[in-house]
Amino acid sequence: MTEPVLRVQNICKSFGALKASDDVSLDLYPGEIHALIGPNGAGKSTLIKQICGGLMPDSGRIEVLGRDVTTLDTVARARMGLGRTFQISSLAMEFTVLQNAVLGALGARGKAFRFFGNVMKDETLLAPARRALERVGLEEDASRRTADLSHGQRRQLEVAVALTLEPRLFLLDEPMAGLGGGGSKALTAFLDELRHEAPILLVEHDMDAVFALADRISVLVYGKVIATGTAEDIRANAEVRRAYLGE
Ligand code: ADP
Ligand code: MG
Repeated sequence: MTEPVLRVQNICKSFGALKASDDVSLDLYPGEIHALIGPNGAGKSTLIKQICGGLMPDSGRIEVLGRDVTTLDTVARARMGLGRTFQISSLAMEFTVLQNAVLGALGARGKAFRFFGNVMKDETLLAPARRALERVGLEEDASRRTADLSHGQRRQLEVAVALTLEPRLFLLDEPMAGLGGGGSKALTAFLDELRHEAPILLVEHDMDAVFALADRISVLVYGKVIATGTAEDIRANAEVRRAYLGE
């Protein structure tokens, strides 16, 4: 049996009386796209934050590449190869596209930030930054100010920032949000390739993208995984149709 790249076991997290994660378990295998869907407020972003180390679970266990990472911080987890994008953009809008990618490469390597001028001359950061921009098709926009990019290009840049880490797995929180049809088609094709490099846990509302990409889908409702299965299983599940698909 192949080992999962990510294993989330019995995670619980409460905010006061609210159970944002209620005994959540899921896993992610090499080459796989595992989609996490569910209504707003279901606890999808909260789960992603706990996997990244930005938020500590009250109980439960998280393993990455066979190693217990439950008590490790975000930097240690990033160094182990955990790449992510955020639901809320983390880009520096006044910086250029290349500067954002270089900052990503810097953060990924856990290097100390001293003089920005030196950082922008560091070939060990520039090379992976340029490579990542090329992969998402932003190489010609490298010197543009991030604030001047279209919404779709900013989402591409976020993926590029995650790529600078050369991750072993990706956590993507609503990467299609706000993209037009063309943009989400292009990103869908890109993610379909990317999965062979590193498997993807994909939080996404765009059901066309989810059904096109996901090998497995988990449905989260009020902090609980109510179903995990293939697209077919999920489409046929009466509880899911009621709770999420609105039928
Ligand atoms: P989703 O990403 O599925 O839309 P979230 O994970 O963002 O949902 O939120 C799940 C629930 O937890 C929501 O009710 C939200 O208001 C609540 N929540 C999230 N973060 C916090 C926090 N830091 N403090 C209190 N409540 C929170
Ligand atoms: Mg969310």
